[in-house]
Amino acid sequence: MFAKKLKCIYCGEEYDIPRNGEDPRLNNKLMCPKCVDLHKWIYGSLDVVYDYDEIAEHVDLKKLFDFNFSIDTMWGFKDLLPIWHQPVCLGEGDTPLYTCQRICQELDVSNLYLKYEGANPTGSFKDRESSVCATRALEVGATGVTCISSGNAAGSLAAYASRAGLKCLVFTPSSASPEKMTQIGIFDAELIAVDGILEDVWELINRDPNNVGDDQILKLVSMTYRYYNDCNAALNPYRVEGDKTEAYEIYRSLMEIPDWVVIPTGNGSNLAGIWKGFKEMHDLGVTTKLPKLICVQVKGGDPIAKAFEQKKDVSIRVENPPDSIAEGIVAKDCYDATKALRALRESNGIAVAVDDLEVIEYMELLAGKEGVFVEPTSATTLAAIGKLRETYAIDKSDKIVCVLTGSGLKATKEVMVKCKKEVKPIDKVKKGDYASLVKDIAKVAKKQFPSLQIPVPSGMLGPDASPKTANGGSSKNSTTEGSGNHSK
Ligand SMILES: [Zn+2]
Repeated sequence: MFAKKLKCIYCGEEYDIPRNGEDPRLNNKLMCPKCVDLHKWIYGSLDVVYDYDEIAEHVDLKKLFDFNFSIDTMWGFKDLLPIWHQPVCLGEGDTPLYTCQRICQELDVSNLYLKYEGANPTGSFKDRESSVCATRALEVGATGVTCISSGNAAGSLAAYASRAGLKCLVFTPSSASPEKMTQIGIFDAELIAVDGILEDVWELINRDPNNVGDDQILKLVSMTYRYYNDCNAALNPYRVEGDKTEAYEIYRSLMEIPDWVVIPTGNGSNLAGIWKGFKEMHDLGVTTKLPKLICVQVKGGDPIAKAFEQKKDVSIRVENPPDSIAEGIVAKDCYDATKALRALRESNGIAVAVDDLEVIEYMELLAGKEGVFVEPTSATTLAAIGKLRETYAIDKSDKIVCVLTGSGLKATKEVMVKCKKEVKPIDKVKKGDYASLVKDIAKVAKKQFPSLQIPVPSGMLGPDASPKTANGGSSKNSTTEGSGNHSK
């Protein structure tokens, strides 16, 4: 194991990473105790520090980052992860990087790639984080894991807890999609739902107005009940380590560093993790270039984008964020904002906010043009490219990777309600009504191939019907000649 310390990103204090527990000075919080009280949950983030000289000396980096060398899961990069134990694994990572010519035309770009994190075991990038956290929980001897989540992280942690034989308790907003709730339940996790959005859950748990909040609840969960506490994005520094493998895989798939990486950003941990991955490859001499990052948030629920614009190093709280379809990232506060803001600035990146109409448009476009169904949060990346092309902030020929963080199957009900593309049956055909079936197929053909002229054989319409063409006209003068001329 080459991870050596946990280092506070504010004061630089270092903490040990023992094999069978956490540094006792951390007092079950996994945040720097010197800094955390300065500003609740905003200061005190820890970062895993490795001995990169030792890695360069002992790890065959050329092989590790060679596309021809199969890695199968993100644990192919175990030497670059802070884990001693055998990983808790469900096949996370090694997700596809799609090329996409048709959506390129729509966005007026020529080199766009889609890193599809929906291909992870529970359908989101959170599996990379949960795999690391559940493994670390086993290392420290915990009996359970817990987290606060908008839904994806909770469903994912529930799965990995189940795989590891750990109990799981999650806290989510009651507005989380039914699909996410179902995942949590099927994996036998216990769920406490709280009215509101993610921050409302955070505040209830961490910012008790009677001032008995923080330590009492954390102690109750972690010490009294022996849950491995703080598997939350932003609070648990091991999560980001899972995220950084996305960067390794992007490089391995492209065999070069893209110009831009576009990331939907809620807490900021995924963006910070992806940047760490690119930085590590650069610092280890695997690559010579670094990408620029694009942070995408929801308009009106965009504390990092606002902080970036105003040159602040912590998120700028938004009091009334919209009820956005991109429920995974809409935020009042972003608990890993500082790491994300540093990454954005170091990469010379951009922060942009998009609205629901743009998100829905690109979610439908991506599904219809490329066969990739993503949850609304992921579609924000394409909406951002659309915006940034309009202002020429990115060039047509730039090489761009969009990180599609989750599958559309995570929010089908939400999509059905808000999208224009609701699937309705053309008709409800009665049992044995062959003529109606043929008529309906002709209707579809007319809709999908308007110029198609194919006569429908009279036998297919039943004994009393006169022959018709597929577009509804008489077949007397029609021929099959048009069949090769249909337009798309
Ligand atoms: Zn500190």
